[in-house]
Amino acid sequence: MTTDWQALEAKYYLQTVRRTPVTLVRGQGVRVWDDKGRQYLDFVGGWAADILGHCHPTLVKAIQEQAATLIHTSNQFYTAPQVELAQALVQNSDFSRVFFTNSGTEAVEGLIKTARRYGKAKKNGAYEMITAQNSFHGRTMGSISATGQPHYQEPFTPLLPGFVHVEFNSVEAIMAATTEKTVAVLLEPVQGEGGVIVPAPGYLAQVRRWCDERGLLLFLDEVQTGIGRLGTLFGYQNFDIVPDGIALAKGLGGGMPIGAFLVTEKANVLTFGDHGSTFGGNPLACAASLAVLRTVLEQDIPAHVQRAGGHLRQRLLELARRYPLVQEVRGMGLLWAVQFTREAGQQVLEACMARGLLVNRVRPNAVRLMPPLVLTEAEADEAVGILEASVAEAEKSTPRNNP
Ligand SMILES: *Cc1c(COP(=O)(O)O)cnc(C)c1O
Repeated sequence: MTTDWQALEAKYYLQTVRRTPVTLVRGQGVRVWDDKGRQYLDFVGGWAADILGHCHPTLVKAIQEQAATLIHTSNQFYTAPQVELAQALVQNSDFSRVFFTNSGTEAVEGLIKTARRYGKAKKNGAYEMITAQNSFHGRTMGSISATGQPHYQEPFTPLLPGFVHVEFNSVEAIMAATTEKTVAVLLEPVQGEGGVIVPAPGYLAQVRRWCDERGLLLFLDEVQTGIGRLGTLFGYQNFDIVPDGIALAKGLGGGMPIGAFLVTEKANVLTFGDHGSTFGGNPLACAASLAVLRTVLEQDIPAHVQRAGGHLRQRLLELARRYPLVQEVRGMGLLWAVQFTREAGQQVLEACMARGLLVNRVRPNAVRLMPPLVLTEAEADEAVGILEASVAEAEKSTPRNNP
């Protein structure tokens, strides 16, 4: 007798996430297995977190060794993994200081607090942040206030004051929204949850120039784009700019819960008593993350992402040419969306699932692909083959609405 975990979940768990009906029990590399022994190619990748694939031996070993040594203390004391990870991040980026969190939304909260503190200390009490429409910054109150999607916000108003949402890809909109009260601009380099929206050429550089002109901080939410996803260690490195701070999470732990915010010396304004965390930066999470970061650097995973991502892009473009249902494919590195001419996202997701490929339905009319970064070209081909059969099936079938 196998246990019906899905029925138990429906009974005991808060019903806030519409799950795909698969119960996963095991993973290896780019593949996962469900409780019925079925195998899938995992193009959801823990929502872009499992960058080294499942059960990467280096990560497993680092976690096992640290778990047997020291799992947790408190930030009242110094621990080596935390300092080593902070040093590695600083030495491989343009930032000078790091703070570790447990999630992406907390990393964004750290940037929001940094902006507020900066405004008080250096900008006459300015506190407003300009963020983009269609953005996603997380689920805590500060982060949903920053998020530019009303459906995440309306159930929870009143929001944190001080956020102005403007059109993505328009520096003019940022200029027009800038006032005496503005202290910072917060953007995703590529909007992930919003449907994989790539910035227009020159946009981020123009925003950087405007922020410099007006003395505004430019912060990037790299929770999804950081640590190799776009073919560079950090997403901003694709766009010839250096932001004043970034938020990281997802890929940073390769599946272990850890986030971080990194700031330049200019934005190094939080001081004793301003911020803290019980679990943030604990030895277990940091040892895991350090193993991930070292593997990413030693194996030059960003260069691999460029090659594998280029191959996947080619294959997806071919697919788009052959099937009228596919309206557009867009993305960078190993973060892609396939958009349909109608709301076929759920149909394609289910057809893929039946054939052994897990994808994410990012919009009613689009699926998102965010596989582990160790994806091989053969695995990319296998996935595109399944996606193609699924698109073909959806194209022939009668349209139906998403649940
Ligand atoms: C996933 C995500 C977040 C939130 O991260 P959590 O770990 O779920 O809190 C924030 N910003 C971006 C861009 C994300 O993709």
